[in-house]
Amino acid sequence: MRSPTAIITYDTAPSHQWCWLPQWYSGGDSAYCLLAKFSRLNVLTIRETCEVFIKPNEKADNKFKIGHPHYPRVDLRLSTNLSIGRLSNILRLDPASLQSGFVDTLFSNAVRSSATYLKWCSTCANSGFHSAVYQLDFVHTCPLHKTSLLHRCRKCGSQLPYELHAPTGVTLFCCPQCRTDAAPALSTPKHGFAISDESAAVLASHVDLIRFADQLPTLIDKCRASVGSPYMPLLLSKPDNRQRALSFRHFVANVLTTVSVKGRRQAQLELSLLEPISTFIERPEMKNAHAIQPKKRRVAHSAVSIAKATDQKLADATAIYRVIRRHLWRHRVCGHRACARYAMRALWWDLDGEKTEAFCATALAFMRWRMQWEGRRVPARMLERPERAATPYGLLAWISRDAPIPSVYWSTKFETWLNKYILAAACFDSFRAWEQRCLRDEHNGKIAWSFRDHDHYARRHWACSGRGTSFEPGLLFLEPSIGSASEFCRSVPFDRAHFRRSRQIIDLLKR
Ligand SMILES: [Zn+2]
Ligand SMILES: [Zn+2]
Ligand SMILES: [Zn+2]
Repeated sequence: MRSPTAIITYDTAPSHQWCWLPQWYSGGDSAYCLLAKFSRLNVLTIRETCEVFIKPNEKADNKFKIGHPHYPRVDLRLSTNLSIGRLSNILRLDPASLQSGFVDTLFSNAVRSSATYLKWCSTCANSGFHSAVYQLDFVHTCPLHKTSLLHRCRKCGSQLPYELHAPTGVTLFCCPQCRTDAAPALSTPKHGFAISDESAAVLASHVDLIRFADQLPTLIDKCRASVGSPYMPLLLSKPDNRQRALSFRHFVANVLTTVSVKGRRQAQLELSLLEPISTFIERPEMKNAHAIQPKKRRVAHSAVSIAKATDQKLADATAIYRVIRRHLWRHRVCGHRACARYAMRALWWDLDGEKTEAFCATALAFMRWRMQWEGRRVPARMLERPERAATPYGLLAWISRDAPIPSVYWSTKFETWLNKYILAAACFDSFRAWEQRCLRDEHNGKIAWSFRDHDHYARRHWACSGRGTSFEPGLLFLEPSIGSASEFCRSVPFDRAHFRRSRQIIDLLKR
């Protein structure tokens, strides 16, 4: 048996039987991946890998002859049976970062909902990478390559156990039945066995967000307990997954602090708390005025009542949307209304996927903003009076995807109030994003009309707590600003020369 202490690693090109360089670690590799790389590069059998890294069973020396120690079956999701110290010494890596190779240290609440078999991305695996996050049941795609994760051998359909077990004799990343190699590139040594720094950063931010989501229920329960109302509704928006994990965490932490401090009604003036943007208190009926537990609302179950509730929500949303549209038309589009009207009249065809010359940015922003929310592809249709009874798909998408999922403790009035605020914020934010986008387009002179553009706009996080009663007021929080969204948009001033220029460009646009 080779003694683990005899292992030597080299800074320069490894010339010995053992080879390992710290730069072959990507910075988020799972323990499975690290052991696979190490054993492949050193041509170790699974038994030899166990000899190097695993503590033998305590009684093994008494029961078996020396040289044939008995190794436990090591579930690689857990950091318990592996010695992190030994791993860190041999691979010359920081023990703290090695901990991130295990499901139990990364996601303490989610170990039960993680797979006991390997789930992998073949592109990542062939670049020498696998993350513990892939093992979670609800993770189905690789955050780097956007491809579905594999969980069965491509040849025979068997699962690859996520463990280190000496008697199996199967190399890691290989099928236990047909021995098909899931990461053949690992056996053909090349320059590196790690993913790029940018990819590692994308992955780290993704892992961070999932870790935070894993802890959220615990944090929310703690907050409720600290206020003394275990049933208090506390809702958070979905995190905006475009690299904004950190701001989501800050926002949630601020909200939870504010809610628990306000709930305890303590004067903590020294704390600078995030103030709710608005508070809702519904006047209670006299007989319920002192009720501590407001009645639960009956939740619609039948298809008809759900459809009715959605219709009502859509009607409410449309009303708010129209008020905002009128406001923007009068106070933001201002003089450029002439440009917008002229453009809408001229553009009578479906523009999705087309590339045209760009014209007045303000008119463009307003048109594209309306096209987003009203789900339209033909600008000319937006001039029809009375407005055609077309379904505003943008609003409908917002209701199904971004509107808060109502709590049973909310009254209908409170829910309508919340939706009104959150939708209004979303409408104004998207208008600002369109303004910035169209100013850029006007500057470059070209527009690519795509109806999925707004999907990439950053969304502000929101949170709400309480039931909207005098006993438990409804508080609504909105993230103050996103990135450069607070930048003031300077559009071109409107004058005759500007309108003439816009008209000339629009006149040249042909289907
Ligand atoms: Zn991948
Ligand atoms: Zn197989
Ligand atoms: Zn204009």
